[in-house]
Amino acid sequence: MENFSTIPCNLCNGRMEVVKVLKYNKTVGILSTILGIMLSISIGGIILGILFLIIGIVMIGSKKEIWYCNSCKSVIDRRDNSQQS
Ligand SMILES: [Zn+2]
Repeated sequence: MENFSTIPCNLCNGRMEVVKVLKYNKTVGILSTILGIMLSISIGGIILGILFLIIGIVMIGSKKEIWYCNSCKSVIDRRDNSQQS
């Protein structure tokens, strides 16, 4: 059984496949998480720390699906593609 459908690439007519990628910048998410932990340890910054911690975890955990071309490495946002139909 095939889980993922494929579409032809607009640029090179190659085969595009659905790939899951991180929605946000991973480095920013990790930095926010570390900052959150450090603020949580300090007495004054626990509320702000938990806030940063949640933002960081959400950023690391959020993923989106994109079309990825194996031939020319081009990428199309999957949501935009389905709207065109
Ligand atoms: Zn292509």
